[in-house]
Amino acid sequence: MVSEHSNVEEMIKNLALREDHPDRRPIADTFGALTFNKKAMAKYLSKSVYEKLLNTIENNEKLDVEIADEVAHAMKEWALAMGATHFCHWFQPQRGVTAEKHDAFLTFDRTGTPIQRFSGRQLIQGEPDASSFPSGGMRSTFEARGYTAWDPTSPAFVLRTGKSVTLVIPTAYLSWTGEVLDMKTPLLRSLHAIEDRAYRVLKLFGNRTAKYVRVTVGPEQEYFLVSKEFFNRRPDLVYAGRTLFGASAAKHQQMEDHYFGSIKPKVLDFMADVDKALFERGIPAKTRHNEVAPNQFEIAPIYEEANLAIDHNLQAMEIMRKIADEHGFAILLHEKPFQGINGSGKHLNWSMGDSDGNNLLEPGLAPKKNVQFLVFLSAILAGVDKYGALLRAAVADAGNDHRLGANEAPPAIMSVYLGTFLDKLLTEIEKGAGETEATRAALETGLKRLPALALDNSDRNRTSPIAFTGNKFEFRAVGASQNCSEPATAMNLIVAYGLDVVLSKLEKSGAEDITPKALGVVKEIVKQTKRVRFEGNGYSEEWQKEAAKRGLPNAKTTPEALEILTDKDVIALYEKYGVLRKEEVHAKYDIKLEAYAKTKEIELKLLKELALQFVLPTLARQVSSYGDAAGKLDAAGKSAGNALKSKVVELGKLAAEIDEGIAAVDAALEAADAEKSLSKKAKLLCTKGVSALNDLRCACDRTEGVVENCLWQLPKYREMLFLL
Ligand code: ADP
Ligand code: MG
Repeated sequence: MVSEHSNVEEMIKNLALREDHPDRRPIADTFGALTFNKKAMAKYLSKSVYEKLLNTIENNEKLDVEIADEVAHAMKEWALAMGATHFCHWFQPQRGVTAEKHDAFLTFDRTGTPIQRFSGRQLIQGEPDASSFPSGGMRSTFEARGYTAWDPTSPAFVLRTGKSVTLVIPTAYLSWTGEVLDMKTPLLRSLHAIEDRAYRVLKLFGNRTAKYVRVTVGPEQEYFLVSKEFFNRRPDLVYAGRTLFGASAAKHQQMEDHYFGSIKPKVLDFMADVDKALFERGIPAKTRHNEVAPNQFEIAPIYEEANLAIDHNLQAMEIMRKIADEHGFAILLHEKPFQGINGSGKHLNWSMGDSDGNNLLEPGLAPKKNVQFLVFLSAILAGVDKYGALLRAAVADAGNDHRLGANEAPPAIMSVYLGTFLDKLLTEIEKGAGETEATRAALETGLKRLPALALDNSDRNRTSPIAFTGNKFEFRAVGASQNCSEPATAMNLIVAYGLDVVLSKLEKSGAEDITPKALGVVKEIVKQTKRVRFEGNGYSEEWQKEAAKRGLPNAKTTPEALEILTDKDVIALYEKYGVLRKEEVHAKYDIKLEAYAKTKEIELKLLKELALQFVLPTLARQVSSYGDAAGKLDAAGKSAGNALKSKVVELGKLAAEIDEGIAAVDAALEAADAEKSLSKKAKLLCTKGVSALNDLRCACDRTEGVVENCLWQLPKYREMLFLL
């Protein structure tokens, strides 16, 4: 029988949303629509300029400045067609995440008629006033100006917010005297350093086709959503990004019922809008799901070239912030918004790929190819072994201290997890596989079996900060709010060092077949770097002890972790690879330390304010209420008011504790204020300051637990974490 809906297309049409519904368009139709991508470039540029620009973008060719005027004009025409009135150079200062300054496309011609112009010079270079961005004292006010320089490898895009439409140009940011003032410049330099060396390794292994190597990155971003109404009523969330107190709720994450659970429709609506906006920006968002904690979620993209992937992550954070607001939510990107509840990180998936599309950390079918893989792996081990502390420093900040080295994943000890199979293979190589016929056969088999790794997702260790996950490394210590440029730079830098260790031994060998020699180098490195390999439980007490025995650094706090930036060897490393000069490393140390100190000072002042303005007055009202009632009960019968009187006494004790807590906060702030040395000040805030914060918080939390619900003015954990 022919049904009414025998026509499948007709049926789909009826079931689907209306065709003209904006959300119905296939992703591929709108992907990158708001970017000056190849399609837009091809439309607006002459063929020769298009090809030159593409050569810069795709083949690392130096930008031909001659073409700047035409590119600028084309970009402007494209942006005007999209409704833009302004353009802006977008950059990554060393504090905060991104910065932008907008200029109208407005000039006047000789007759005084307004025209819209955008020149090559305006595209290539901007001049934002740099005086209010941190420079770690490198710049004096009279030379406060910095300049932004166009990064053609990251596509310009149109930013639409409310009534404004702006052409945004990703840039690097430097001072007039050439000092680095941002996070992108060191990233680009570190990429240059590592990619050049990785390419040389490929050549040594006889690769004749690859034109270049690129680092690839895929950052998985965790975040919390809370209702905007609650958020606005919590000054600590507004000003510190995290709750400075809050009694733990009876139900939190103990049922483990949130992770990968079904996503609430309201949240899914938010995610749908986020994805749509990301797709329009050409950001390949792939996965979305609930995370471990209540109201915690994750978004992960398809990986891209590192610089682009990081620009995209920065844009994604902004986009999510804006869309959360439109949905009546606030997004929390802080590493630890709620005490006792899982915090948020950003897993930086990291690998290298060549121009032929091969992932250099993907074991292949041929054992010989896998020796090349082992060479890359050894370079990473060598880097982490020598400069693991630098990776730790790259993710150090006040927010991340609540995760690393505190009671949460991953630990502050930088170790590498390889999985049982690979770990065993390395141990065999170290023991001398390949030296006799039998061991050579064993090694051959091991190398042949390597490709199974990429498919084997079960062998996971969630507690390791640097985990090999089949065909990439996952650096899990990055904080959710962080700009990935810094950790990626550190990773690139230490692996560039590791590759040099390898290259220095292999490049002069001159052998036709490099594999036997390469295996020897692998063996040597594996032997020397054993201490950084750890397959066990990274959270355990035993690991803390074991790591200390192995001499691995374990900097639990930011001030401790940053010390490595004053180390001669580390400064020399930055200089050798042309990533930062000595003064720039010093500046980085100062900027990071200062940010830490300022964060702690703000938290201390804020907690004191809240204790005085919310907690104590509420406590006093509760005392009056119980006190009055106790009097009335006493009047009704002998000692009838005793129970409530004891509550009043209890509250009196809490008031005293709060008072003492405030005094300790004051003492910490005064001591910090009096301290002239930045490093001592930061250390003081880290010890005395943090302990004052914890003590006062504890008294506030206990008060919250015993005062009447309707007297308590601030949203509670049980509300913020569960109601959306
Ligand atoms: P899982 O973490 O379960 O292995 P995926 O394999 O999908 O999940 O990868 C998680 C993240 O790792 C994604 O953001 C993805 O883009 C990224 N990723 C995958 N392969 C690479 C690679 N070669 N280089 C960098 N990142 C990668
Ligand atoms: Mg992962």
